[in-house]
Amino acid sequence: MASIAENISTVRTQITNAARAAGRPENNVRLLAVSKTQPVSALLEAYAAGQREFGENYVQEALGKIAELASLPEITWHFIGPIQSNKTAEIASHFDWVQGVDRIKIANRLSAQRPPERGPLQVCVQVNLSHEDSKSGVTLEEVAGLCEHIATLPGLCLRGLMAIPAPCADPQEQRALFRPLATLWRELQSRYPQMDTLSIGMSADFEAAIAEGSTLVRIGTALFGARAPRA
Ligand SMILES: *Cc1c(COP(=O)(O)O)cnc(C)c1O
Repeated sequence: MASIAENISTVRTQITNAARAAGRPENNVRLLAVSKTQPVSALLEAYAAGQREFGENYVQEALGKIAELASLPEITWHFIGPIQSNKTAEIASHFDWVQGVDRIKIANRLSAQRPPERGPLQVCVQVNLSHEDSKSGVTLEEVAGLCEHIATLPGLCLRGLMAIPAPCADPQEQRALFRPLATLWRELQSRYPQMDTLSIGMSADFEAAIAEGSTLVRIGTALFGARAPRA
């Protein structure tokens, strides 16, 4: 079995190749290591291999890791799970980024609860591309309104859009799912110049996402191996 360091190196090469194939600058796509359910030892191995940005989905699990790894320079934490309103204070206090903002109420709470000394929380608006009622995220039509609101909040910095489309094996279909989101993101950038992040692409579809313009891929399985089911 390949080590985490080897997996990181392989995925980085795949990212570079996908960017090059799309005629994009190679250093334009960030790698977020999705470390949910992984032990601290796995995060340390990734960190030693140069990985700095980590994504976590579960608040309690993440707070333990953030505390244990607090002394590592440059380590950056993204909250990428569904946000419950009773968890916003902990999220706003301990994370650098929150990717799944999809409601005004949650945005307001995160902004109000962000400790001022930490500077604004970097946020992405989550968009539901698959029109499944059960999934988080606003519709494409609702994105502009939520962005307009977030841009007025002093505790938040609006950095981009994020989506988790329904799984699909065909690369052309994957690209077609991502495309309307990428188009909308480019339009919004003229209004919000700080919106430099398009967070799309996971282990199974990151190359298609990069072809459509992704600037941040969120990868778990391809770095750390299959996750055990959560107890
Ligand atoms: C778990 C998760 C990922 C990573 O998925 P893999 O398929 O393991 O790469 C990415 N984004 C979000 C929001 C996730 O919850």
